[in-house]
Amino acid sequence: MADDAILRGAAAGGMTLDELFGTVEQEWQDQALCAQTDPEAFFPEKGGSTREAKRICKACAVRDECLEYALEHDERFGIWGGLSDRERRRLKKQLG
Ligand code: SF4
Repeated sequence: MADDAILRGAAAGGMTLDELFGTVEQEWQDQALCAQTDPEAFFPEKGGSTREAKRICKACAVRDECLEYALEHDERFGIWGGLSDRERRRLKKQLG
């Protein structure tokens, strides 16, 4: 529903695709649970624990959007959508 409304609004407002995606991106990031916690937990030192970050991701409402963003943008560092860099690379391979 929300996406439809955004699309209609964008078409009516003569927005470019970039502007439109910028808006959608912004929307999920506004709900990012990690932004309200300790961001350092999401970028642990090499060999550091990722447990706390993953625990927060599990409760995050925009986990899917976040993971999708990280996969699309080839994010190399940190925990995104509950997955570490290594786990994201594995998932990407599986997805082909
Ligand atoms: S899924 Fe995790 S990393 Fe992504 S926005 Fe939510 S809390 Fe942050």
